[in-house]
Amino acid sequence: MKCPECDAGLDVPPDAMAGELVTCPDCGSDYEVSKSGSDVELKRAEKVGEDWGQ
Ligand SMILES: [Zn+2]
Repeated sequence: MKCPECDAGLDVPPDAMAGELVTCPDCGSDYEVSKSGSDVELKRAEKVGEDWGQ
């Protein structure tokens, strides 16, 4: 798989479970694995509960 954001290689195992999170080592974007049939897709993970910026 490739990071949709920066095209870096992402290590997503072919048997990854839907809902698994992968983080791009290059740009740090988080993606959630979603499956449609036998296809594995990545969708951007929502950042939840990481509001450290105050
Ligand atoms: Zn990336």
